[in-house]
Amino acid sequence: MRRKLIAGNWKMNGLSRDGLALAEALAGKLEEARLAGTPPSCDLLICPPFVLLPILRSTASDAEIAMGGQDCHAAESGAHTGDTSAAMLADVGCSFVLVGHSERRQDHGERSKDVAAKASTALSAGLTPVICVGETREERDAGRALDVIESQVRDSLPSAGGSGEVVLAYEPVWAIGTGLTATSADVAEVHGAIRKVLADLRGDATAQATRILYGGSVKPANAAELLGTADVDGALVGGASLKAEDFWAIATAC
Ligand code: PGA
Repeated sequence: MRRKLIAGNWKMNGLSRDGLALAEALAGKLEEARLAGTPPSCDLLICPPFVLLPILRSTASDAEIAMGGQDCHAAESGAHTGDTSAAMLADVGCSFVLVGHSERRQDHGERSKDVAAKASTALSAGLTPVICVGETREERDAGRALDVIESQVRDSLPSAGGSGEVVLAYEPVWAIGTGLTATSADVAEVHGAIRKVLADLRGDATAQATRILYGGSVKPANAAELLGTADVDGALVGGASLKAEDFWAIATAC
């Protein structure tokens, strides 16, 4: 049985006071729910900007909210001005890291093989990489969505030798921040295809144990339907993760 994971990708939003207020509000909601004997049935993860991680660490860990970085470098350390290593993320309390988000692929020219290298370094540092894949509008309209996604998954997975949990996140590029979402039927088809690629590459047991998140305009209003779709093991939430009420409503829709 895969336990659902609700992940908040804060992107480049919020100063320290905003981040702290958001994390504290979430921690408060969790505490209330636990006291009432109704804790959410999913795991919660927040991925704040790097500079907020040390500031949020104790609030998140006291509330048992996992923290993740939004990216890491493929190298373990060295002359990479402006970059952050996986070990640095682990050192400030992260247990996850997003890799290959479409904004990184678009804005920083990251290719799937770069994503695989990052995922591999993340695993070595003891982090769970959340490997993001997804097609553009043009690719879907051209009937190429499944091909594109399957090859992204094949090429973005860390080399087979690496051990440790990985999470996949299917995020159609055209659904991110647009208010558009894929239909449940399309989501089920893509998630099923991703699980099949995982089974081909890693065997059935690993494929069945791997969580595959959906992302792209997940909101309180559509969360229950998306989270109830076959093979959807959680959500990667952008905009709606910046409001504690909305993120909590999504978490409690599991
Ligand atoms: P969104 O972003 O929920 O604002 O569409 C999702 C993401 O980019 O991870």
